[in-house]
Amino acid sequence: MVYFVPTFNPKFPMNIHEYQAKEILRKYGVSIQEGIVADTPEAAEAAAKELNAKTGTSWYVIKAQIHAGGRGKGKVKETGSNGVVLAKKLEDVAPKAKDILKGTLVTHQTGPEGKIVNKILIAQDVYYPGASEPKEYYISILLDRAKACNVIMASTEGGMDIEEVAESHPEKIIKEWIDPATGLIPFQSRKIAFALGLSGNAFKEMVKFITALYQAYVDTDASMFEINPVLKTSDDKILAVDAKVNIDDNALYRHAEVGAMRDISEEDPLEVEASASSLNYVKLDGNVGCMVNGAGLAMATMDMIKLNGGEPANFLDVGGGANAKTVEAGFRIILKDPNVKAILINIFGGIVRCDRVANGVVEAYKNIGNIQVPIIVRLQGTNAEEGAKIINESGLKVKSAVVLKDAARLVAEAMA
Ligand code: GDP
Ligand code: MN
Repeated sequence: MVYFVPTFNPKFPMNIHEYQAKEILRKYGVSIQEGIVADTPEAAEAAAKELNAKTGTSWYVIKAQIHAGGRGKGKVKETGSNGVVLAKKLEDVAPKAKDILKGTLVTHQTGPEGKIVNKILIAQDVYYPGASEPKEYYISILLDRAKACNVIMASTEGGMDIEEVAESHPEKIIKEWIDPATGLIPFQSRKIAFALGLSGNAFKEMVKFITALYQAYVDTDASMFEINPVLKTSDDKILAVDAKVNIDDNALYRHAEVGAMRDISEEDPLEVEASASSLNYVKLDGNVGCMVNGAGLAMATMDMIKLNGGEPANFLDVGGGANAKTVEAGFRIILKDPNVKAILINIFGGIVRCDRVANGVVEAYKNIGNIQVPIIVRLQGTNAEEGAKIINESGLKVKSAVVLKDAARLVAEAMA
């Protein structure tokens, strides 16, 4: 029997910073709030001066650049500053920038550990007073998998968490599905702008905004664009104030300039190391490390661990062609997680033979040396018996199991 488990990449969307997302928007003619990125307080002040010369603004907004939202309400642990702050005087820019840069920003999306802010965006304050009050809207584009087409979502409730709006006022979210054969037709952009209650110049600007935004989304092979808020300024301009962009990483080969926007300092270091070894690894909060071939089997293994009272420390799919090298790389990555108290290796020998994997485990175990946590290896499929024999006769503190249930029980026992 040939047994194929399709491998998928759980890190499917590639995340970029707001300032990078805005560069993409600008390229497609989507109006944005002008800004300049900085990584020191001095550079922040220079950026503010440049913005003043370019736009005439003397009010600035300073925005932490991290791969997470909720920055406005979020707080920097060390200084108490919010992640998005206003400076209405040039002299205030550097000190306020200093309170954010290199700090640990905690938002409802970062978890309590927060994220280090390495860069800030200095932007013109676009909430200036004028003929009308500035008003915030919400617009996003994403793939609706159930309908197999893109959907544009819009709401008058901008600036708020859209999940909250969806819960309390689902009627306030407008959805417009885009037929892939026709693309976005002008009628649809007008329909959305109308539903948002716009008229006059703001209506025309919104139609242009949506049209350009959709083009940018399609051309960059994005999986999500979320502009929250989209601002109607007091003089009826429509601008993207925030921009969250996810790119489908399967399409990165044809977007080198987007690929170059990757910021690995924002990613989990173990996940970066894993992707360098072509391993699909996602760190989780539990204590049982798992090494499995195939995404489906990895899911089932995690379920078995939970059923037996454990908590998986990670998802790790070593892929269909597991060999001694990938096993060793997987081992090293799992062992770097201090929470790991036991490791369960669960390999189905289809194309890969269990005796080869067993030799790989023994070799990796010896190469790494000084492994303190118990290891349970469950090999099933081609040459499973031979594999178990190699493990049992290796003299190493590795236990073998043939049935997954036994393996999960052995893990529970090893940890007790
Ligand atoms: P998020 O909190 O991570 O989603 O970051 P945003 O870019 O959405 O900014 C948070 C909030 O800051 C926005 O909802 C706005 O209300 C506010 N904000 C952003 N830019 C400006 C600005 O130029 N002027 C003013 N007054 N407020 C701004
Ligand atoms: Mn936002």
